[in-house]
Amino acid sequence: MESRAATRRHFLKGSLAALVPMPALAQGQPRVVVVGGGFAGATCARELKRLMPDARVMLVEANPTFTACPFSNGVITGLRDLRAQQFNYEALGSLGISLVYLSANKIDAQARTVTLSDGTALPYDRLVLAPGVDFRWGSPAGYDEAAAARMPHAWKAGEQTLLLRRQLESMEDGGLVAISAPPNPMRCPTGVYERASLIAFYLKARKPRSKLIILDAKDSFPKQRLFQAAWQQFYPGLLEWVPLSNDGKVVSVEPATNTLVTDFARHAAAVDRRLAELGGLPPAGSGPWPSAPEPTEPIDGLAALGLFAEWIGAAAFVLRDPDLALLARSAEHWRRTTAGQWSYDRPPAGWKEWSRLLDVTLADRLTALQAASGPAEESLRQLEAWSGDDQPAESALLPQIRRRLPGALDAARAAIPDGPGAARVLLRHQVPSAFIPPLAVLLAHQKL
Ligand SMILES: Cc1cc2nc3c(=O)[nH]c(=O)nc-3n(C[C@H](O)[C@H](O)[C@H](O)COP(=O)(O)OP(=O)(O)OC[C@H]3O[C@@H](n4cnc5c(N)ncnc54)[C@H](O)[C@@H]3O)c2cc1C
Repeated sequence: MESRAATRRHFLKGSLAALVPMPALAQGQPRVVVVGGGFAGATCARELKRLMPDARVMLVEANPTFTACPFSNGVITGLRDLRAQQFNYEALGSLGISLVYLSANKIDAQARTVTLSDGTALPYDRLVLAPGVDFRWGSPAGYDEAAAARMPHAWKAGEQTLLLRRQLESMEDGGLVAISAPPNPMRCPTGVYERASLIAFYLKARKPRSKLIILDAKDSFPKQRLFQAAWQQFYPGLLEWVPLSNDGKVVSVEPATNTLVTDFARHAAAVDRRLAELGGLPPAGSGPWPSAPEPTEPIDGLAALGLFAEWIGAAAFVLRDPDLALLARSAEHWRRTTAGQWSYDRPPAGWKEWSRLLDVTLADRLTALQAASGPAEESLRQLEAWSGDDQPAESALLPQIRRRLPGALDAARAAIPDGPGAARVLLRHQVPSAFIPPLAVLLAHQKL
């Protein structure tokens, strides 16, 4: 440890010498301005003063009290007092460092001045900038300063830390605590998981019927095995980690209802909107199609469930979600058997070879697309709607389909090159049924 520390000191000395070359210092009392009195700036100011006792070192810091982040998770869970996190700059002042409690608003590199929030222009020979990091509001969408007052991030220690603590204390036993973990780079890569562990500790002791969920924009995190082993041992059933690949990424927030919206939920909303724009993809000329949110006719309900089955299949493909894919396969079985008796105008005679039949819904949609004035364009619009993406299908969904379903496309191309023939082959290759009519039309028109 000692030799390591010595090496670091040695490095620091070397780098500071490089920062303030001797010729510049020889011409009178050098002035060094350090902006930011966090760990970086305060340490730098202290070491500069130690190495160059004759220099005038000025520390410009917006707040006279520094509230440290490390250990602040203990404050959230009531293990520490916020005052234990707070420090003043007296010790630096006693070393002869000039303390300026103002914000640095502007830097003029030519004139070598820093303009402070009171308008003073502070001259310098060398400038050190250590303002730390700040928030990029609007990421996730909807997360701004007003939202932070309802949904605290607590990544800046102080009032936010206390707000989160109060919210935990006032939550009922049985409540849900949700943490959104951002993608890298992160200010403190393990901070989210330390916080989760401490909150789980608090919940287990005080509100054992509650649940904690981490929605993560990553598929892995530092010290993951250690954390997960501890969670399994101490908080089974209480703490759930949802990785990126399982729809963990929070894409937007709704502060009014304390809601975090994930990719899947966003996808769901977008697909619904696009399908609604296309008129709900009604099967042309055949039977009723649900237009009201609560269908009154049983057949409408079954048709709605058929659409739902397609919806799951499309979402499973686009989001690459294995759980959804499993669900989609079951929904598709249901659609072609039980529901077939009612909604597809045909008894489920082909029970054993269900995957070979083109049900009436798909056949009708295919017919409607083929009869459209621009069949290929209309098919692309349908694919766009299922992708839930506002990008044109050529740039969003089609390249994915080409890449991920080459065998199915080749087989359909090689088989019978008319619409229904291609559709039957695609169906046999388990292509999501939502995509089948538009793909079959594109294949028949040699657009794919
Ligand atoms: C919950 C949590 C736990 C953490 N735990 C650990 C840990 O255990 N170990 C660890 O090593 N790290 C930990 N970290 C990370 C650590 O807090 C940061 O890496 C560290 O604070 C960065 O130091 P800094 O000096 O660069 O910035 P900061 O600490 O952010 O300091 C920047 C300073 O600059 C000031 N400032 C900014 N702009 C201006 C301006 N224009 N004018 C004047 N002043 C300005 C600010 O007021 C602030 O005082 C944790 C972080 C969090 C959020």
